[in-house]
Amino acid sequence: MKIAVPKESAEGEFRVAASPETVKKLTQTGISVVIQTDAGIASEISDEEFQNAGAILKDSFNSTVEQSDIIIKIQPPTIEEIHFMPPKAVLVCLMDALTNPETLTHAAKTGLTCFALELLPRISRAQNMDVLSSQSNLAGYKAVLDAINAYKRAVPMMMTAAGTVSPAQVLVLGAGVAGLQAIATAKRLGAVVTAFDVRPTVKEQVESLGAKFLEIEHIQQNSDNTVYAKELDEQSRQNQYQALKSVISKMDIVITTALVPGKKAPVLITRDMLSLMKKGSVIFDLAAQQGGNCTETIYGQTNIVDGVIVLGQSNAASRLSSTSSLLFSKNIYNFITPMIKKDDLSVTINFDDEIYRATCVVKDGKILLGGNANAR
Ligand code: NAD
Repeated sequence: MKIAVPKESAEGEFRVAASPETVKKLTQTGISVVIQTDAGIASEISDEEFQNAGAILKDSFNSTVEQSDIIIKIQPPTIEEIHFMPPKAVLVCLMDALTNPETLTHAAKTGLTCFALELLPRISRAQNMDVLSSQSNLAGYKAVLDAINAYKRAVPMMMTAAGTVSPAQVLVLGAGVAGLQAIATAKRLGAVVTAFDVRPTVKEQVESLGAKFLEIEHIQQNSDNTVYAKELDEQSRQNQYQALKSVISKMDIVITTALVPGKKAPVLITRDMLSLMKKGSVIFDLAAQQGGNCTETIYGQTNIVDGVIVLGQSNAASRLSSTSSLLFSKNIYNFITPMIKKDDLSVTINFDDEIYRATCVVKDGKILLGGNANAR
């Protein structure tokens, strides 16, 4: 059994899919772990640390993945990388499966079996494999730090001989995993925090973190069995727009994290709202990659509009690479170990298990979406 860990090639990706801790656990069971030279360097993990944990180092993508049974990565592979992978290998990474059909098509042609970690079901049994949660949590934290860094005033209240500094007002929109961490981080740094989410159940969680929940009347939010939000109807959108417009001028920092799975991110902050904000206020749009919660967000860039700094920087978790690699690699370790049969170390995947059924996007030369790995 050989597990390959290539160095990430995507721009701005500083994470690695294994850590010395997970490598050690795998190699102790007799599994061979092959890591590409410098794969951990951007996460402060040296080749020597990986070697000390039992890994074998190879100096190219090709030589790392050749003859591997399982390949673990962070980002989807490039088309060129796919063609270096052994046809019978199992690939586990973020695949952007719903928006990246080209990668799936090429993977299906080669015969790979691919698992998309972003499709992991949100069930308690899968919590320790959930890369979206572990990385969103870090992204929420990092977004607050980056926003405060761009903000030219102090955040906590300070009473000094020279005068009193008022605390910064922080608004967090969307209180899922990233939003709740953003609230907690901003509170710890001394800000006065207000938050809003369309899911009414979130109010209690927001308040338990010491933040104020912004009450908006008549938000029509479908409630069904799913943990996720739905798109709002036109009237609810209008109500949300008016409510946010009436509070936005008081806010110094806004962290937006609102997402609706499978859809473009909802627009929450418009150009006219920015003109009401104080100069030097900061918006960090964590939904930038999905189209942005602010109309003025430019993905991957800083945009200054009417003196308001709009941050659309990508991959916030990757900029905390040391911590994010540690958590990501544990998530992946927990995902792949049940695939490896203990006695003969062969790959044996139970497609009756909803975790593997829901995440398998390529198998037997076919693209599978919709959790149907067994049926097709
Ligand atoms: P997400 O990233 O999909 O969305 C972020 C937040 O944006 C959500 O809270 C959503 O309600 C909110 N939102 C959507 N439209 C909005 C709008 N117009 N205005 C304001 N807010 C809006 O969410 P997530 O962080 O992935 O979490 C979704 C849910 O899944 C949460 O309840 C979370 O606790 C749960 N979860 C469960 C597990 C598990 O059980 N294994 C793991 C992770 C998350």
